[in-house]
Amino acid sequence: MGGGVNASGNVPATADVVVIGGGVVGASTAFQLTRHGVRNVVLVERTHLAAGATGKSGALVRAHYANAPETRLTLESLKIFRNWDDIVGHGDPGLRAIGMLRIVHPDDEANLRANIETQQRLGGNTMVVTADELKEIDPLLYTGDITVAGWEPDTGYADGPTTVYGFARAAQANGAAILEGAEVLSIRTEGARITGVETNRGTIATSNVVLAAGGFANRLLLPLGIDLGMYPRRIQVAVFRWPFAMDHARPHRVVIDSLHRSWMRPEGVAGTLIGVESRADDNIDPADFDESVAPAYVDVARRALAARYPVFDGALMRGAWAGVVMQSPDDHPIIDKMSEYEGLFISTGDSGSSFKTGPAVGVVFAEWITAGEPQLMDMTPFRSTRFAEGQPWVDATSYTNESMGSTVSR
Ligand SMILES: Cc1cc2nc3c(=O)[nH]c(=O)nc-3n(C[C@H](O)[C@H](O)[C@H](O)COP(=O)(O)OP(=O)(O)OC[C@H]3O[C@@H](n4cnc5c(N)ncnc54)[C@H](O)[C@@H]3O)c2cc1C
Repeated sequence: MGGGVNASGNVPATADVVVIGGGVVGASTAFQLTRHGVRNVVLVERTHLAAGATGKSGALVRAHYANAPETRLTLESLKIFRNWDDIVGHGDPGLRAIGMLRIVHPDDEANLRANIETQQRLGGNTMVVTADELKEIDPLLYTGDITVAGWEPDTGYADGPTTVYGFARAAQANGAAILEGAEVLSIRTEGARITGVETNRGTIATSNVVLAAGGFANRLLLPLGIDLGMYPRRIQVAVFRWPFAMDHARPHRVVIDSLHRSWMRPEGVAGTLIGVESRADDNIDPADFDESVAPAYVDVARRALAARYPVFDGALMRGAWAGVVMQSPDDHPIIDKMSEYEGLFISTGDSGSSFKTGPAVGVVFAEWITAGEPQLMDMTPFRSTRFAEGQPWVDATSYTNESMGSTVSR
């Protein structure tokens, strides 16, 4: 498909649905709306596609959670990732299904078994493996501090920007307008309904808005009187080169490691990307934050990597960056049709774990808008009202170190 996104000129005067934000959620929503028969879809992105968390993401795609709803949403997303050519038909999300290991503290064995049972019941291909079996699955792994782990043989990771570009191209091919350099300055309402959005390039009249603005959501929600207690959080990652001693023909697996509050996966031809849940940098400005990492963080990351894969002891750092996620008060995403305003839908408070669910969230919004209810699954656990109800989302079977405050590795 030729042509790029429209990065200048006025925005269209009207739309059936305006999608705010060109990350994985916005792009997948725009695509799914067109797939569900909505003709006049306009996606507005303030800078460029994948400029937010999606572009910085580790993009792990695993279905292991300590709760059923996020597992279900991921299993639905996996159907899209795995059948990309048939469903989306443009671009390539870069799915690498190299297998994912979920390492937990020995005290968490009962919770691990309970979570894996739930995931199996939902159709996930996952199992409990012993430390000896782990040695077969990933010989480089240090297993002296592990009794059992979770093993998903056919999940892994994907690529943030190419996932967005594929969805955006498919949406565009189906007639959606994808506008870069178009920032929504405010959401317009009349009484309790949505009437449009005001952008830096003009006003779009619409009765439906899907807000998928990542770390920027408060800028548009607070003026509407919607305060969900979310805050933008800066998180860091680093890349290390594979040492000579490593068998480069046999890359390690994706690992989420509760003991060291870290996650890691191969990056490029001979590197490993790692993130460690470290001291949080909260309430930063998502438009103006430090994209580099603190020198001390590199040491923390190298130590966590070598603790799980000793071959990385002293490994060469080959790059690092920071990105922004939108943390919700209970560290779980908020995905809802808002009762305050007819026509307002939000996906926010991603809490560092919503790349993998983004493809399915697009289906949910398309169904909400075209059928009145999501058919895919019950979205009640993700509701925005849980905080005001005094019922924040708590996972009964979460792991040591991860009950509160974790992002990517939760
Ligand atoms: C370092 C890092 C590692 C991560 N690792 C993982 C992982 O391994 N697995 C996983 O599932 N998740 C991971 N995440 C989290 C995941 O990337 C996010 O949850 C997900 O990408 C959020 O997607 P989104 O579309 O909601 O928001 P974003 O990707 O943040 O997109 C929001 C977009 O909205 C635009 N925007 C904002 N305001 C406006 C406005 N007013 N008008 C127009 N456009 C606007 C922004 O420019 C941005 O492009 C990670 C995040 C980071 C930062």
